[in-house]
Amino acid sequence: MSATNLKFPTLNSLSRFARRSLAITLLPTLSWVVYQIFGENGLIGIAVALPLLWAFSGSFGQKDTLKDVVQNDQHATQADQLEDRINDMLFAAATDARLALFCLELDNPSDVTRRLGEAGLQNIQDRLQARYASCLRSRDIVFRTGPLHWTFVTTPSAKMNLEIAIAQANRLQDIADEPLFVDDDRLYLSSSIGFTIAQKPFKGAHVLLSQAQSALTEAVLNGPNSIRAFTPSKASKFAQTQTFHLQDLNGDIDTSLIAWFQPQISTDTGRITGFEALARWQDNAGQIHSPATVLPVLQQHGLMERLTDIMLMQSLTALQTWDAHDLKIETIGVNFSHSDLANPMLYEKIAWDLDRFEIEPQRLCVEVLESVIAGEADDIIVRNVTRLAELGCQIDLDDFGTGHSSISTLRRLPVHRLKIDRSFVAKADLDSEQQKMVATILMMAERLDLACLAEGVETLGEQSILAQLGCRYVQGYGIAKPMPLDETVDWIASFQDRQLITPEIGRKRS
Ligand code: C2E
Ligand code: CA
Ligand code: CA
Repeated sequence: MSATNLKFPTLNSLSRFARRSLAITLLPTLSWVVYQIFGENGLIGIAVALPLLWAFSGSFGQKDTLKDVVQNDQHATQADQLEDRINDMLFAAATDARLALFCLELDNPSDVTRRLGEAGLQNIQDRLQARYASCLRSRDIVFRTGPLHWTFVTTPSAKMNLEIAIAQANRLQDIADEPLFVDDDRLYLSSSIGFTIAQKPFKGAHVLLSQAQSALTEAVLNGPNSIRAFTPSKASKFAQTQTFHLQDLNGDIDTSLIAWFQPQISTDTGRITGFEALARWQDNAGQIHSPATVLPVLQQHGLMERLTDIMLMQSLTALQTWDAHDLKIETIGVNFSHSDLANPMLYEKIAWDLDRFEIEPQRLCVEVLESVIAGEADDIIVRNVTRLAELGCQIDLDDFGTGHSSISTLRRLPVHRLKIDRSFVAKADLDSEQQKMVATILMMAERLDLACLAEGVETLGEQSILAQLGCRYVQGYGIAKPMPLDETVDWIASFQDRQLITPEIGRKRS
């Protein structure tokens, strides 16, 4: 949205308003003339004919009908059109009216996109659009503002307040919560919402949109399933722009890229067994950017291997730090990209780094995406993974269940552990179909002598069912979100303290 769109009200809205106002102003004059010529019968004629004429010309009632709303989805990228409609709404609002504007994004959008593909994505967006439109009143605005991203505006009303807006946001979240069926699969989605409430004098659509988007950015960082209201006093430390160029990220790659760490725990012992390193970019203003924003930019500039180098250094440093505190953390997981695995010198590089940090290879979990090794993986990738396993590193197959690898691939490569993708874990305690999927993966892994770690475990219910089904490791927001290294030491200590008084969850192994 460009700054030129800040004009308020827009020319469009003014001309539409003028046309409506003119018709209304001329009505008494018209009635008087008709009465003079045709008498009372003429007046009755006007009373019947005018509303009909209005209805047929489309001037009667509100413009923002449900039909309009759904059709607008076809022009989702036309931000100007959305701003015009919001500005119209603002201009026509009563003096005491308040308006709520919500920005909603489905959680983990890149995962959802990868899982669905182009056609599937469009299908899901259409179905969600229809659900959203049916949940709001016909005069409210429902607008898809990007892939898996919507903007909603409720008709201004004197009744709107924080409680009502939160209840509305909850209702919008419930919509994505209901499973969607894609072929024979059930898709569990969740969404995060940022909103702003505005009253007269309104600042204009452009400002309100950026306030709600800023609240959404903060919600996403706190997600999943988060709701945040915009508060002008609290300057967000999280970045608000959605698309970046390298210069926008402002900062030097070596100092800006920071590994955050998310714990993994054993369902057998309840102890922390390791952490996964996840990349964050901290820019010069101190704002934190997530991989969804940063990785595409690094990829575009051929910087994925630099990223891995930096993550690996910080990960090995983290192991040394935990060892220095005698915290007994066994492993660190590092994500390796396709370009890392296609590098013929990868083995030498890693062997050298492990050696100079004096870390045993067993403590490094090399995370390889299932999609990278599915099908006919390049010889060089197979060779690298095999040599790293021979060195003693553990090979974790990431996002397992989404990449369609065959049993023969699993046998061909020296994989140690499957990281079951979050999409299979969601609601596994409540949904028997999800439970069956997880149980099938676990059974297959047991036959192939592979350990399993469930990703994205958000609730105690999910954690318990996974433990009961025999999943040896869990990782997810239900245990802890990723955190900077300096927070891990206190977190580990307090987790271990709690551990001493909490009974174990899970099945006992002989
Ligand atoms: P991943 O490797 O599958 O990492 C797990 C992602 O799920 C992380 O997102 C993590 O914050 C998020 N997550 C963990 N627990 C939960 C949960 O309970 N619920 C939900 N909804 N999400 C959870 P993050 O940090 O945004 O990373 C996203 C992806 O970016 C990673 O997915 C990985 O594919 C990639 N990535 C992150 N860091 C690196 C890196 O250093 N190198 C490479 N090549 N890729 C990276
Ligand atoms: Ca990973
Ligand atoms: Ca994963």
